[in-house]
Amino acid sequence: MIYVEASRGCPYECEFCLSSLEVPVRQAPLDEFLAAMESLLARGVRQFKFVDRTFNLNIKTSRAILLFFLERYEPGVFLHFEMIPDRLPEALRELIARFPIGALQFEVGIQTFNEEVAELISRRQDNARVEENLRWLCDETGVHVHADLIVGLPGESTESFARGFDRLVGLGPQEIQVGMLKRLRGTPIVRHDEEWGMVYSPAAPYEILQTRLINYATMQRLRRFARYWDLVANSGNFVESAPLIWREGLPFESFLRFSDWLFAAGGRTNGIALKRLAELLFEYLTREAGCEERRAAEAIWNDYRRGGRSDRPEFLRPWLPEIERSNPIPTSSRPASAALPRQSRHAAADVTGKDA
Ligand code: SF4
Repeated sequence: MIYVEASRGCPYECEFCLSSLEVPVRQAPLDEFLAAMESLLARGVRQFKFVDRTFNLNIKTSRAILLFFLERYEPGVFLHFEMIPDRLPEALRELIARFPIGALQFEVGIQTFNEEVAELISRRQDNARVEENLRWLCDETGVHVHADLIVGLPGESTESFARGFDRLVGLGPQEIQVGMLKRLRGTPIVRHDEEWGMVYSPAAPYEILQTRLINYATMQRLRRFARYWDLVANSGNFVESAPLIWREGLPFESFLRFSDWLFAAGGRTNGIALKRLAELLFEYLTREAGCEERRAAEAIWNDYRRGGRSDRPEFLRPWLPEIERSNPIPTSSRPASAALPRQSRHAAADVTGKDA
């Protein structure tokens, strides 16, 4: 993976972000930039991570870069861009839609759907347009969408975060990164410390410990929620079985219950082997969440095989003969072209879903 940069700085002023201090935006000369990309491609580079904070700021330049890679596309090419979510005009959409599944990854910063919180931290965002664009990306393109939300912003309660999280899950991005607010040196977010009772860790990376609306214990629960969401939902290892956790309830509330249970059952948030995690998920779904055993077993087994594994976990064996008789291995009529393992697992599921 090669990190490249076509522009530096951001014209927006989100108060928690270091890039907000870097104005004006400076653009690399386009012809020279594309010549450098040509040279990297010739030398065999296939995975490019653009670190531009807002790739879709200058539509003419974004178009030129996308078109450049589209014309040179071959399987294995993977491009990552950071995007602002409410700016996706037809001129960009038309190119984005032409890339194959898994070739593009967009990191889309939502941070909060709460308009009062957004105003407090000087973040300008048109939520209706964000929703429309995300829905289009998730439903109509092969883009792998990684959307960011932040826990602990001034004015954000657990309830308002939950509403934003559920809204985002409903739009269908492959990954939702739940990040804890950090107090980065020099950012104006500190102006809210007193009014909103903001307490940050004194040690790097200076993460939020509590606010006036979210106490320390709840913040710890949310931190574990973020970690488990990453392990279970974002990892792509449980694309079919994870949604069973919230099949009868709201995603945030249901997953928080699972997260609390998982922590009580295992007492750790990292270093859980995949097979053990699958077993814990099965146990939770069937014993705590009222999911029918055969249904949970089938979803977990499909996920397990989709990841390319062929061993037969002990806890699934009672259901496997029947499941295999009625359900052949989930494969796709089109190969998923994502270049990285995590993205490939999501892409394989997306392809299977879209073909169906
Ligand atoms: S959060 Fe994103 S949009 Fe806001 S200042 Fe930082 S880079 Fe710019």
